[in-house]
Amino acid sequence: MGKLGLGIAVGCAVASCAIAAMMVGRRVKSRRRWWNVVRALDEFEEAASTPVERLRQVVDAMAVEMHAGLASEGGSKLKMLLTFVDNLPDGSENGIYYALHVGGTNFRILRIQLGGQRSILGHDVERKPIPQLLMTSTSEEFFDFIALSLKEFVERKGDSLQLSQVRGKDLGFTFSFPVKQTSVSSGTLIKWTKGFAIEDMVEKDVVECLQKALSRRGLDMNVTALVNDSVGTLAVGHFLDKDTVAAVVIGTGTNACYLERADAVIKCQGLLTTSGGMVINMEWGNFWSSHLPRTSYDIDLDAESQNPNDQGFEKMISGMYLGDIVRRVIHRLSLESDVFGPLSSKLSARFVLSTPLMAAMHEDESPDLSEVSRILEENLDIRDVPLKVRKIMVKVCDVVTRRAARLVAAGIVGILKKIGRDGTGGVTSGRIKGYKVGKMRRTVVAVEGGLYTSYTRFREYLNEAVAEILGEEIAPYVILKVMEDGSGIGAAMLAASNSARSVDTVQVL
Ligand code: ADP
Ligand code: MG
Repeated sequence: MGKLGLGIAVGCAVASCAIAAMMVGRRVKSRRRWWNVVRALDEFEEAASTPVERLRQVVDAMAVEMHAGLASEGGSKLKMLLTFVDNLPDGSENGIYYALHVGGTNFRILRIQLGGQRSILGHDVERKPIPQLLMTSTSEEFFDFIALSLKEFVERKGDSLQLSQVRGKDLGFTFSFPVKQTSVSSGTLIKWTKGFAIEDMVEKDVVECLQKALSRRGLDMNVTALVNDSVGTLAVGHFLDKDTVAAVVIGTGTNACYLERADAVIKCQGLLTTSGGMVINMEWGNFWSSHLPRTSYDIDLDAESQNPNDQGFEKMISGMYLGDIVRRVIHRLSLESDVFGPLSSKLSARFVLSTPLMAAMHEDESPDLSEVSRILEENLDIRDVPLKVRKIMVKVCDVVTRRAARLVAAGIVGILKKIGRDGTGGVTSGRIKGYKVGKMRRTVVAVEGGLYTSYTRFREYLNEAVAEILGEEIAPYVILKVMEDGSGIGAAMLAASNSARSVDTVQVL
């Protein structure tokens, strides 16, 4: 071989070494990027984990906060509001009643016909989305829209009932925002949640606003019950099953209420009710405890929200936020690595990934996760990602949903603990060894809301966690019952039970 030949051979060897080194380098880099993703995902999973011991700490914290909220005004982040509902419907109610439901993405109008003996003879519901603009308009515009919609409903459904025939009819009003109730049919708005911001309504009496709008539209109806969605759900639950003692709503937002002994409401000394009980609206979306598994994504979501430092529990568990937590995690993973392809600007947009889309990805059962692909492409501009990356997407949805569902379960058991229905000795003592299961009473919790009813994995995780926390001896006594449209129907039932009964049975001395 001449010098030239040797030179070429050496050159070729050097070049191929360089190419090989580059390829190895790239592979190492891409592996490193992949490991970055795996590491970030592991960290997230760890921070969001909810082992049963942690859930039990949340149970205890919930029960303790409930106590504190009942002991004094402002004693806890849980407002523990009096609802002035002291008697729940018992199934004997009769007649036609209307209800309005305002509280989230959809506004609902209902008409029910009750036939006594726990029977619902007729049930009409109409849903209307609330125009985005009205959510931040004036109270007059907002209530005019509601009154007009009710009028149109009455006219449309008025085969046998004309406008004049609804004169004097009782109307239940479910208004699912924090309200300081002054009687069963009046109350002032404390603050907006769930993206609503009609500033001139804060501290106004919501029934007065509605009643005025009804008059403007020529509708002569009486708002005889103002309730929160959870109270409505409890009412219908109790109408159908007398063992129902609490209700939880898990939709766009979340809340819970339960039947408390009047004498346990320490902040309201001398509270007298005919039944000796009082439904307490917990406003549990605002619950907070250091035991909640909070991640950096939750901190960012809160800081960028319309209501920072507020509704901390709600921001970890309700439908308004779950999709956005997933979006935040994927955004971070995309910054860490290019496994999701070039960084999509969509990933910086808040709420671009809704919870129903997240659920559709989570529940994609196709072998190649084609639904995940489609949603990534159509909603996040993320294209052609390999199967292992689509699997990461499903994993993130799973972590977020599992945590949310298990925290709700802990919250529910917290309520049961407060009222002595969890098989332990109550708030102060721990689980009692040899506790007699024979003492346990059948306990029903009514559940309502799109997250629970439409997101199967969420529901399964929640039910599973309630049983896990309670243990196999106690769990069979606790039943979660779905109440579809419960909040609206319940408001109509409360309108019925409150018009039939004397309303002034509740006194605060
Ligand atoms: P609202 O809470 O607004 O009164 P719903 O109880 O119907 O109304 O709950 C609607 C919420 O439930 C939506 O905002 C969404 O977050 C969630 N949701 C509805 N359908 C699904 C679904 N298929 N999968 C997951 N979440 C859903
Ligand atoms: Mg609702």
